[in-house]
Formats: sequence, structure tokens, C-alpha cells
Amino acid sequence: MPGVRLVDVVKKYGRIVAVDHVTLSINDGEFFALLGPSGCGKTTTLRLIAGLEYPDEGSIYIGDRDVTRLHPRNRDVAMVFQNYALYPHMTVFENIAFPLEVRRRELGLTRDDIRRMVVETARFLGIDHLLDRRPGQLSGGQQQRVALARALVRKPKVWLLDEPLSNLDAKLRLLMRAELKRLQKTLGITTVYVTHDQAEAMTMADRIAVMDKGRVKQVGTPEDLYYRPANMFVAGFIGTPPVNFIKSSLKKLSEEVKAERGVGIVEASKTRYVLELPGLKVPVDPGIGSMLESKGVSEVVLAVRPQQVGVVFGDGAWDVEGEVLVVEPTGTESIVTVKLGDEVVRAVVPGDARVQMGSTVRLRFEWSKTLLFDPR
Ligand code: ADP
Ligand code: MG
Repeated sequence: MPGVRLVDVVKKYGRIVAVDHVTLSINDGEFFALLGPSGCGKTTTLRLIAGLEYPDEGSIYIGDRDVTRLHPRNRDVAMVFQNYALYPHMTVFENIAFPLEVRRRELGLTRDDIRRMVVETARFLGIDHLLDRRPGQLSGGQQQRVALARALVRKPKVWLLDEPLSNLDAKLRLLMRAELKRLQKTLGITTVYVTHDQAEAMTMADRIAVMDKGRVKQVGTPEDLYYRPANMFVAGFIGTPPVNFIKSSLKKLSEEVKAERGVGIVEASKTRYVLELPGLKVPVDPGIGSMLESKGVSEVVLAVRPQQVGVVFGDGAWDVEGEVLVVEPTGTESIVTVKLGDEVVRAVVPGDARVQMGSTVRLRFEWSKTLLFDPR
């Protein structure tokens, strides 16, 4: 199976730049997700790969072939649309057979060949008992499988999926997520999967491109994006509950500060920079401190995931105290929102932890995993 490559691709609709100089390299057999908020250019990117749109600038390759100006038919790709786009007047069999029927001569297929291919694909997707029904007689999940079968029946080289699970209810969506992932790996088919749901992209994809306003903000594995986000947009888009951004100032350490907070997370005496957070001064790695100083950065944003904020019970070491504004149990864990000066910080605690709304709690940050961003 070939990979897909976009080189400096631009697509405009009038004055709107839907896709803004996008360069991506999708590997052979890879499950690749395009992730970003509504309107960021995901669907347009997918349609450009499919050949349903042509770029204003740049090139698109499938394998070694430049397909930039090629008709969709000649690209050997199959697309699944968000609304499935099934033909309501046709049976499930006819829907799945359609891509084969329209080029039966070209592909040199007999009617028996088509029947065999349709039944095989339907069986693979567990819908072979539905072949005589029409789409209107099917559940959402079944229609979804028909759309997938129709896209797979002619064994395309590249599979393009545009938010294929967004019309399913929450429970079915989770089931189909796992099934699609298994299907993709079984077939080894190069897949580009569009979604605005970070959990979907994180759980399914080998790699993800995070997009914003037509641009790619970062490409990486789910782990890269979670632990090493390249910018605040990616840090804020990935992870749930969302990351805490805490505004803070970077100060060069003075004697006075040392005296005020002699015990700290890192040995204060060896540190030359501190971060001033509401109710807390934190030593900063000298290398990072001087690098930020040399760039003239004094206001920074500390990014800390709720999973990296612990509520301290008993007399363990802690960093800050604050009032609990709200506790949201999710079952295995609870999300605790704590007021810190003018800021609010979310922490994730075990579901059986006793935290009262309105009480004062002590928080401890997992400093080694926090990140600093220059908000400018
Ligand atoms: P996404 O799939 O990420 O929600 P789209 O690719 O559909 O985003 O859209 C990207 C931008 O391009 C949006 O601002 C959208 O309004 C605009 N756009 C998309 N398709 C068209 C079109 N056919 N005509 C005009 N504007 C469009
Ligand atoms: Mg879209």
C-alpha cells in the first residue's frame, strides 16, 4: 500500500484560506488522523487527497505518483462521508456493489465476481444478513457498516474517513472505534481519518496532525502530543480534562526570595530563576530561565495536566492551598476545581477520595511533567 504526501498545499475559497501551506507525509499502512476544531480545514484536506477538490498551490502524491490534477477515479482511494451518503432507493447489496458496477467493464468483472466480492466484504463487516434491506430499515451503526463496506469493496489503496463515527450514540461510538482500528490493522490499508474528537484520534491513530485555521500545528504520535506538545494550541487541545494554563511571571532569584521560601521543590540555593504563581514561587531550571530571559520573556504560561496535580491528604509535602469550587465525580476518578488567587486549577483525584466543596485543599504539582510556554 502506498503512502500519501502533501507538499505545501494551499486551498482557498474566495478569501477564506481553508488549507494554508500544509505539508504532510503519511506512511504506507499508517492510521493517520487529522485532528482540529470545526472549520480548521480537515475535510478540505481530505477532499484534496480524494481529488474532489484541486489545490490552488502545492502537490499531492500517492505513493510515487503525482496525483495533484488526477480525477478521483484514477487515484485508487475510497472516502467515507460523515453522513454515510448511502443511496436510499437501493438495497444494501446494491449500495455496496455500486463502486464495482459503475466500472464493471473497466475492471473486467462478471456479475458473479461482484456478488462474491460484495458478500465477502459484507461478511467481513458482519452485515451479510442485511443485504436485501434498504438503508432506511437499518440502525445508525448498521448504516455506518454499509458505508464502510462500500468504501472497502474494491480494495482501495488509501482509505479516507471523514468523522465516520460522529452520528453514532456514545456507546456504539466506542465499540466502532475499536472495530475500525482492528479493521484498519487487519487490512493494512493506509488511512487518513478526520475527527474533531481528540480522544478518538488519540486512541485510534498511529500519528496525528493537529490543525488550526488551515495550518498544521504539530505532527506526532499520541504520546508526543500529550507529553511534548509543541505549542499552547496543541497542549490545550489534547488531553481530558483540559490542561491547566497558569499565568506566571519569571523572576531572577534574589536573596529575599530565597529567605522567604527556603524549602522548595528544587533546592532554591542552586537556582537562579523562579516562577511566581498565585501563592507560590517555584525554582526554574537555570538553563530554561536564562534562555527565556535572553528572549526577553517575563510572562510565561505554566501548563500542567489535571492528572499531574495531586490533592495532598494528611501531612505530606504540598505546594499551594486553595478553596475547592466544585467536585465532579466520573466514577473511577473525580475532577476537583480549586481556586488559586485569580486562577482556577483542576486536579484529578481517585473516585473514592473525600474532597468537599468549599473546603481548603493542599495541592502538589508533578513538576517534572509541567511545561512552560511563551504566550506571545
Ligand atoms: P473542518 O472539516 O475542519 O470543519 P472544512 O475543511 O470543512 O473544515 O472548512 C475549512 C474552511 O473552509 C471553513 O472556514 C469553511 O467554512 C470553508 N469552506 C469549506 N468548504 C467550502 C466551500 N465549498 N465554499 C466555501 N467555503 C468553504
Ligand atoms: Mg469537516
